[in-house]
Amino acid sequence: MSSLSATVATDAAVAPVGPRAFTQADADRLNAIYDQVPAAEMLHRLLTGELAGQVSVVSSFGTESSVLLHMLAAADPTAPVLFVDTLRLFPETLRYRDQLVRLLGLTGVHTLEPEPVALAAADPKYLLWSYDPDACCAVRKVAPLARGLEGVTAWVSGRKAFQSSTRSHLPLFEIADGRLKINPLARWTKADLDAYMDRYNLPRHPLEADGYLSIGCMPCTTPVKPGEDPRAGRWRGWDKTECGIHLPGLDKPEDEPVF
Ligand code: SF4
Repeated sequence: MSSLSATVATDAAVAPVGPRAFTQADADRLNAIYDQVPAAEMLHRLLTGELAGQVSVVSSFGTESSVLLHMLAAADPTAPVLFVDTLRLFPETLRYRDQLVRLLGLTGVHTLEPEPVALAAADPKYLLWSYDPDACCAVRKVAPLARGLEGVTAWVSGRKAFQSSTRSHLPLFEIADGRLKINPLARWTKADLDAYMDRYNLPRHPLEADGYLSIGCMPCTTPVKPGEDPRAGRWRGWDKTECGIHLPGLDKPEDEPVF
C-alpha cells in the first residue's frame, strides 16, 4: 500500500484513487497526521484530497448534526449522506432533515428504510422495540445502513466522546468492519458545538428545547435530566446504549444476525 501520510498531507494536489481497503496502520497514521488539525479543515482535506469520492457521511439529523453537515457542505455538498429512516422517527426529525438539506444545499442525501418483507416478518405489530430493542434496531436501523454502506470503504460519523462513557475514548480515525471510520468531532464538547451553531446561525432540532439532547426513535427517546449523559434518554430503563450501527456487524449480509 502506498504511503497514506504522503498522499493525504498534500491533499488537493493528489488525484483521487479508487476505493480500497483500509487497515489499522492507515488509521494510526491518519490519527497522527490530523491530531492537531481542526475538524472542518480535516474534513475538507479528506473530501477534496486522496479520499475524494470515497467517503460517505452517516447522519441522524439529530440534535448536533448541523455542525458536521455544515462542514460537509463547505467541503463537498455533493458527498453522499446516508440517513436511516426507521419509520419510527419523530416527524420533527424528518422536517429538520428537509430544512438542513435545503439550507446547506446538500445534494447527496440518501434516505434508507427497512426492507418491507423483513420488517413485516420481524415487527408485524410495530411493538418489537418494547420487548426486543436489539432485534428492532437490527431490522430498522442496522440492516438498512449496512445496505447503504455496501461498497463504501470510508465513512464519517458525528459521534463525540462526551456523549457517554462508552464513547469517552473515541479516536479521530478507527477501523470498523474493514472500513475506515472518521470521527471529526470526537474531541468536541457541547460548548464547542453550541458555539459553532451560534457562529453560523444554524437551526436547532425542534425537540432540543424540550430536553431531547440525543434523538432517536419516538418509542425509545426521552428527554435528558440535568446532570445526565446526553444519551441517557435513549432506551431508558434498558441495558442498551447503542443502536448497533457503531458495533461490529455492518459488514454482514442482511440475512445474517448482527448482534
Ligand atoms: S431505537 Fe427503538 S424503535 Fe428505533 S429501531 Fe431501535 S428499538 Fe426500534
